[in-house]
Amino acid sequence: MKKTIHIAGNWKMHFLPGEATSFIEKVTPFVKMGGVNVYIAPPYTSIQASSRAAKGSLIHIGAQNMSEHESGAYTGEISSAMIKEAGAQFVILGHSERRTYFCEDNQVIHRKLKRALEEELQPILCVGETDEERSSNQTQAILEKQLREGLRDLGAKELSLLMIAYEPIWAIGTGKTATPEMAEEAHGLIRTYIQSFASREIAKKIPILYGGSVKTENIRDLLSEPNIDGALIGGASLDVRSFAQI
Ligand code: PEP
Repeated sequence: MKKTIHIAGNWKMHFLPGEATSFIEKVTPFVKMGGVNVYIAPPYTSIQASSRAAKGSLIHIGAQNMSEHESGAYTGEISSAMIKEAGAQFVILGHSERRTYFCEDNQVIHRKLKRALEEELQPILCVGETDEERSSNQTQAILEKQLREGLRDLGAKELSLLMIAYEPIWAIGTGKTATPEMAEEAHGLIRTYIQSFASREIAKKIPILYGGSVKTENIRDLLSEPNIDGALIGGASLDVRSFAQI
């Protein structure tokens, strides 16, 4: 059976609403292939414009982050209801830049995940090891800890709404991509670990995306691996041509 491919762009802190609209208008004609789900996460202030531009297309719009709190006195925060109202259908949680620069740990990420699911937003949970952790053979332990603590207490229904992105930190924005074999090995570990606390069926169904310097030149080989269901793309998602080719 042919697998469904999930291609997600993380625009990080790029594109004003007008730029986002123009990007989506240009990329939409290329997004018509059955079996490929396309996701774009613009910055908060461009979600509404992006969602309007993507209306009627096969592109899903989402957010790169959100607050763990439903509402209240949390200066500078954005709630799940706010991003949903703006047009978000999914949310990226636990991106390594959030973990590193904004001190988000597995507990915070877990609370955000629960909040997203309550709001009926599809979470993309990012996990991945540092260079140092890989060199000291800790990759499996780190991935399992991030999954165990991040997905704690989730029921079968909640788990089946989730996507996971394996993003080795040493490969993000560095131009260093994991080889398809390295990525496949990590995806296999993730799937096996999920199976250890959820059912085999759920573990099989959860899309696991690879992220880390994905580009037109390496996407085909990555996707040919059985456990790689798609990609989460930073840099190459900012260029219409590259994103459309991917
Ligand atoms: C990312 O930020 O999630 C990412 C994978 O970035 P890049 O593709 O630029 O490595």
